[in-house]
Amino acid sequence: MSHTDQKSVVIVGAGIAGLMAARRLCRAGWRVTVIDKGRGLGGRMANRRMDEARFDHGAQFFTTRDPRFSGYVSKWVANGQATVWYERENSAPDSPPVPHYVGLPAMTAIGKQLAEGLNPVLGRRVTGLASNGESWTVADDTGSTHEGRWVVLTAPVPQALDLIDRNGVELPATDRAQLDVIDYEKCIAVMVGLSGPSGLPEPGLLRPDNPEPLALLADNQRKGVSPVPAVTLHSGPRFADSHFDAPDQEKIAVLLKAAEPFLRSPVAQTQAHRWGFAKPLQAHPEDHYCCPGIRIALAGDGFGGGRVEGAALSGLAAADSLMAHEKTTPQSTHEDPPI
Ligand SMILES: Cc1cc2nc3c(=O)[nH]c(=O)nc-3n(C[C@H](O)[C@H](O)[C@H](O)COP(=O)(O)OP(=O)(O)OC[C@H]3O[C@@H](n4cnc5c(N)ncnc54)[C@H](O)[C@@H]3O)c2cc1C
Repeated sequence: MSHTDQKSVVIVGAGIAGLMAARRLCRAGWRVTVIDKGRGLGGRMANRRMDEARFDHGAQFFTTRDPRFSGYVSKWVANGQATVWYERENSAPDSPPVPHYVGLPAMTAIGKQLAEGLNPVLGRRVTGLASNGESWTVADDTGSTHEGRWVVLTAPVPQALDLIDRNGVELPATDRAQLDVIDYEKCIAVMVGLSGPSGLPEPGLLRPDNPEPLALLADNQRKGVSPVPAVTLHSGPRFADSHFDAPDQEKIAVLLKAAEPFLRSPVAQTQAHRWGFAKPLQAHPEDHYCCPGIRIALAGDGFGGGRVEGAALSGLAAADSLMAHEKTTPQSTHEDPPI
């Protein structure tokens, strides 16, 4: 088979959407290249280390509503790659409590599991997209190129559209109008190493009543992510908007002051991270976008239900769409639950 045979795809992004799509296509016999600009796997399901302290500084947990995603989550729990952090009462009457899952030992465990056997290309930013009508040549910032008959972009939608525009790729105007309105809120995360336990109540997660400037505090030690006291702070979107380009020390000072009543122990060290595209404010009405005329698809949490689960389902939907267009039969194996 040539590099650009019918069943070949370049997937931009090794977050959960890209990896779900990649895995599904790979299982069905496609030749799949996954590229991510980050050094790690999992995208916004991210983890960072500061000395001994470890922080999930993006997504804090995931929930499942859809049986297609629950199948994966059950498998991760059975294999020790995820666990229940806590359960919350269900707002629907007479329904069981809702488990809130975390990756084990950290959120990145999920991306690592999904990427097994895929050999993603990491630490390369995709900059070029060129089609000769039959196949795509995808260029990264080292000058390397990757060929595929299809391209799937799973970066947050404004970033995917920026890549499309920079390369003169044209989408039908009505499709484009629906994609253009997908917008995301920002978030500033501050990682706080403490010299003793935090004062956060059970289960180690707190959302202050007023989400500005501080929307969430999460205790990574209580979560089982960090061997030493380590708290993640997430700002509210208004604070993130107004302070996105402020010096780190300024952002950190404001969020630390708001967190002070809950931290209890002295602060040993801090670090800030800016999420420019944290969560979609409004998503596309479909679970993915596909333009079969030029064989490009977009997927991720900007489609369908958002969140980790929505992104995962979007990746699967994009994979199914490609398979339908190339008349490939989806495969399920003992490793991936049937969907
Ligand atoms: C602070 C924060 C808190 C959150 N909390 C929760 C939560 O508690 N529960 C929940 O369900 N969801 C939460 N979310 C949302 C959740 O993390 C996302 O919905 C989900 O992880 C999105 O997955 P994705 O694959 O669509 O995108 P991403 O995970 O963003 O993956 C896209 C990937 O594309 C890569 N990329 C982008 N551009 C390029 C390029 N040009 N070249 C190469 N690679 C590129 C990026 O590096 C990234 O790895 C949170 C998000 C944030 C930021």
